[in-house]
Amino acid sequence: MTYFDRRDSGLCAEGVPLPAIADAVGTPVHVYSAAALRDAARRFTAALSILPRTRTAFAVKANPNSAVLHLLAGCGFGADIVSGGEMRRALGAGIAASDIVFSGVGKTDRELADALDAGIGQFNLKLEEEEGRVLAALAQARGKRAVAVLRVNPDVDGGTHAKISTGQRENKFGVAIADAPAMYDRLSRLDGLDLVGVALHIGSQLHDLAPLEAAYERIGSLVIDLRARGHGITRVDLGGGLGIPYRVDDVVPTLDAYAAMVAGVTRDWDVDLIFEPGRVVAGLAGVLMTRVIWVKPGADRPFVIVDAAMNDLARPALYDAFHRFEAVAPDGERMVANIAGPICESGDVFALARDIDRVRRGDLAVFHATGAYGAAMASSYNCRPLSPQVLVDGDQFEIVADRFLPEEFAA
Ligand SMILES: *Cc1c(COP(=O)(O)O)cnc(C)c1O
Repeated sequence: MTYFDRRDSGLCAEGVPLPAIADAVGTPVHVYSAAALRDAARRFTAALSILPRTRTAFAVKANPNSAVLHLLAGCGFGADIVSGGEMRRALGAGIAASDIVFSGVGKTDRELADALDAGIGQFNLKLEEEEGRVLAALAQARGKRAVAVLRVNPDVDGGTHAKISTGQRENKFGVAIADAPAMYDRLSRLDGLDLVGVALHIGSQLHDLAPLEAAYERIGSLVIDLRARGHGITRVDLGGGLGIPYRVDDVVPTLDAYAAMVAGVTRDWDVDLIFEPGRVVAGLAGVLMTRVIWVKPGADRPFVIVDAAMNDLARPALYDAFHRFEAVAPDGERMVANIAGPICESGDVFALARDIDRVRRGDLAVFHATGAYGAAMASSYNCRPLSPQVLVDGDQFEIVADRFLPEEFAA
């Protein structure tokens, strides 16, 4: 089931015809479906219900929109954050500090201090022992103990795009699994830290459960090792990374298969499990609507120039990512074309030699599956404004784009 379906009035977001949104807000515009978000969150939670003790923290970097975060908070999700700005977004959206996990490769002293003052529930120590020492000192100075886990790099290749792969030895994320026990010993002796377990995250848009299972098994061995060294391990953060079908025929693991795999691997762990899904919750819940500016004849095939660009949706330029393109009111004809945005970069191309609905100047179309890492990655390159964001709920919609405020950036 999808929440962006064709009806007599053309393509709709739930009960709202997309042209109504284009008329009211203009294009390009990111459109989210509240029902799709709720449905994805509920399906994630339902799949995990076979596990004894779980908590879910939505990866805010996938979609930091306040209305989206507020909706997911209402579904029982906490937040996984990577910056002070994301922390303020999550708190502002009504997520309790105790339900926030602070990941992030380079947390500044200021970010750590602000997070301690806010009472963040878990710090994922990522980079070096140094980070643990700084955090412990800041906590001690406040008469607090920071609850922390050690992010471990299990050295597993997630089989995904190199730019979204994080679990191999040469990545900047996490400490090498071989170094983890000794480092854990040293960190656990620090007064300001309450070290409760370990974390991992091997990459994003994973198509296959096997690398995740291999990584989780390595973490399971590490938990046994750490307990043998006298550490009380009560929590393991399993990260995020599940893929979504960007193409109609993409095959990705089901949530039930994922949960069953986790249940098998973690059967004897006796810990609280933390999950940090991003893409799998928000990805299919959004589209980027755009208007065709020109259809320009090209050497081999026409160029469809749309008013959305790489500043609105960076994934194709960054990762060669595929986003399905669909006309809002197709005439039934097809064409093979390149689709590009107006930015002065040859990388500002959404598709090459793609078989698409025939479109003409002025037509509306969407790029599908832009709810995660879409608006979140937007920039104002070429002095283009950040596109508005709209949340549809049933037959209603509202503008929910909240520009980042200068004080949110300040950290
Ligand atoms: C990016 C990230 C996630 C979310 O990844 P998805 O692929 O969107 O599920 C979760 N945890 C950490 C630490 C991350 O960096």
